[in-house]
Amino acid sequence: MSDRAKLLLVDDRAENLLALEAILEPLDADLVRAASGEEALRRLLHEEFAAILLDVQMPGMDGFQTAELIKQRERTRHVPILFLTAISKDAEHIFRGYSAGAVDYLMKPFDPLVLRTKVAVFIELWQKTVEIRRRDALLAEQELAAVERESEVRYRSLADAVPQIVWTADANGVITYRNERWFELTGLGRDTAIAWQDFVHPDDAAATAEAWSEALRARTPLDAEYRIRLADGSYRWFLGRALPTPDGWVGTSTDIEDRKLAEERQAFLAEAGWVLGSSLDYEQTLADVARLAVPRVADWCAVDIFVDGKLERLALEHADALKLALARELEEPMLSAVTVATRTTEPVLVKEIDERALAAFRFNDAQLEIARTLAPRSYVTVPLTARGEVFGSVTLVTAESGRVYGDEDAALAQELARHAAAAIDNARLYAEVERRSRAASALEAVGDGVVLVDRDGVIRLWNTAAATITGVSEAEALGRRIEDVVHLWSEIAPLIPVASQPGEPVRAETVPVEFGGRELWISGSGVGFEQGTVYAFRDLTEEKALEEMKADFVATVSHELRTPLAAIYGSAQTIRRTDIDLAPEIRDQLLGVIASESDRLGTIVNDLLVAGRLDADQLPVSVERCDPAELAATVLESARTHLPENVELELRVAERIPGVVADPGQLHQVLVNLVDNAIKYSPEGGPVLLSVANGDGAIRFEIIDTGLGIPASEHRRIFEKFYRLDPDMTRGIGGTGLGLYICRELVRRMDGKIWVESKPGQGSTFFVELPAAS
Ligand code: ADP
Repeated sequence: MSDRAKLLLVDDRAENLLALEAILEPLDADLVRAASGEEALRRLLHEEFAAILLDVQMPGMDGFQTAELIKQRERTRHVPILFLTAISKDAEHIFRGYSAGAVDYLMKPFDPLVLRTKVAVFIELWQKTVEIRRRDALLAEQELAAVERESEVRYRSLADAVPQIVWTADANGVITYRNERWFELTGLGRDTAIAWQDFVHPDDAAATAEAWSEALRARTPLDAEYRIRLADGSYRWFLGRALPTPDGWVGTSTDIEDRKLAEERQAFLAEAGWVLGSSLDYEQTLADVARLAVPRVADWCAVDIFVDGKLERLALEHADALKLALARELEEPMLSAVTVATRTTEPVLVKEIDERALAAFRFNDAQLEIARTLAPRSYVTVPLTARGEVFGSVTLVTAESGRVYGDEDAALAQELARHAAAAIDNARLYAEVERRSRAASALEAVGDGVVLVDRDGVIRLWNTAAATITGVSEAEALGRRIEDVVHLWSEIAPLIPVASQPGEPVRAETVPVEFGGRELWISGSGVGFEQGTVYAFRDLTEEKALEEMKADFVATVSHELRTPLAAIYGSAQTIRRTDIDLAPEIRDQLLGVIASESDRLGTIVNDLLVAGRLDADQLPVSVERCDPAELAATVLESARTHLPENVELELRVAERIPGVVADPGQLHQVLVNLVDNAIKYSPEGGPVLLSVANGDGAIRFEIIDTGLGIPASEHRRIFEKFYRLDPDMTRGIGGTGLGLYICRELVRRMDGKIWVESKPGQGSTFFVELPAAS
């Protein structure tokens, strides 16, 4: 509203308006003309007037009608109207004018002074109204300001009351307001001009700056985590949130140090768990964990392990090597303090290490000095326990970080100790399992049968050798009672010596045991222990058979040797006699006996020598091309020298026989043996045929007799060493059981084959095949 008053002059006659203007000119007001009622109303729509001077007599809308409309409008209702009229002086007119809202009624011609005075009153009134309105407005403004002030105070005290830092910044990011919490936490003076870089941790500056400019660019809320430097120089984690406002930013910074620590603890535990689980070398992993703990959850970390009942330091970690070296001086008193701490399974937490706490370590003066230099703040020691056994401890200490340990940290240490203990336990169990599995595989690999029978007589272990020796599989034996598996166990068991404890010497005994109808000779012994008895045994069946064979052999050979010796001795004695006169032919006969029996002795001894050399693999073979027919002929020739009368020898050689590849001396011996046998085992006499034929790339010798024959079941065994069909010589035919063994071995060495076809009572045919010369 302008300060100058306006007067609206309404008259249809310009000369009247001019006259009015002339009268009112000296007044402090702007004069506005209107030539009709309509124009006056239009003017009133847009402007405010101190008063209206209204002519009554106008063509169209007259003064009264105009006044009525003015009075109807809310905004113009109170504008004073002065009617101007020349004619209507009568009372009715005047009444109409007042009822239409006139404040005065002036007759033309006017007295200028009176008119001016009257109008001036309205101008003054208007000015007062304006002044009042101005004052009102001012007052309202002041009141508003007061309210605003009050709300700001309220807002600030609210901001000061919240635990967060609250701040506002202008659009350029310059901090315009910080709440009390800010000053409390950072200790930065109220007058200090600050940029956020002054208090945000340098490591977090880049990320924070990026978040800020991103929020600024996108006009989106800002969210960032950063560390703020506190009054004492340490840092704490805050979560910053800021919202853009029309004139900048309003933001909060919430202390999330505890959450961050918890996260850090969780992350550390997870990583420590991973490290501990990554290897079975727990000494190494524990040292790794100590390294992991510093500085994330501690400034110092010590891991101590009991070795033979004495606590020893496995690892000590600190970021500063110099301090580490100093701390080693404190090892002994610290270890004894930790030893005390491990007597309970609970963690020992010392929140503030004061002089009294230091005294508890019983440091000597020099050590105390070092301890004070290192200035530990808090510590927590937790024992490492598994299966109720304490095998060490972990100690976390704070110093330069200024952290004070609380219950959460004790819980963390305990959790770490649990992880570590589990890892150690695992490693030990694994080592034990490893040891057992090695023992088990040794048991499986060993050649001796090993059987564990528990206290109830049930078989709990039956190794591979036990299965091989007995022919009873592990599956068949395990879980069954030993007497159900071993035939006549109750009779055998007392024969097996059992030591009452491991390590006690005991001699194994050889006992016969039957498995599946097979008799085995088993040499076994046992050891009793708390879970039962372990039996170890080996199969001596073969050894036993060999032993028997050897005994038989000794008997046979001695008999074989004694017979010719007796004949030689008898003949010699007879020749030496002087009391009787021997006829020359008798004498010749006796000498003949001596010669042939000596020969027989020589053969036996030779066989023994050859067999021995074959066993020792000391018989050289040198093959060459030989004539098979010629060889066969010499064999028969030498046989004829001692041929019984009832046996006829025959040689049959196929035509165009090629050479044979053999050691001639050894092939000769093979054929001699076979022909001798054919003669020997034809006690009734009969033909003995030696045939030489051409086989498929081989030369085949056949020695055919019509003698005793050999049962099919013995066809293989007769080639075994010392094996004889009739060891007791019921038929009176002697022998060492070496002849065929020697034949087989010699033929094998010359890359040939030897076998027999025979039936008892129908004679035998021995075949020898050797490579033909090309
Ligand atoms: P021995 O010195 O007993 O003859 P050998 O090894 O030469 O030993 O023969 C082994 C066994 O084979 C003999 O004891 C005999 O029972 C049997 N045997 C060997 N040759 C014949 C054969 N031609 N006819 C019947 N039995 C034979």
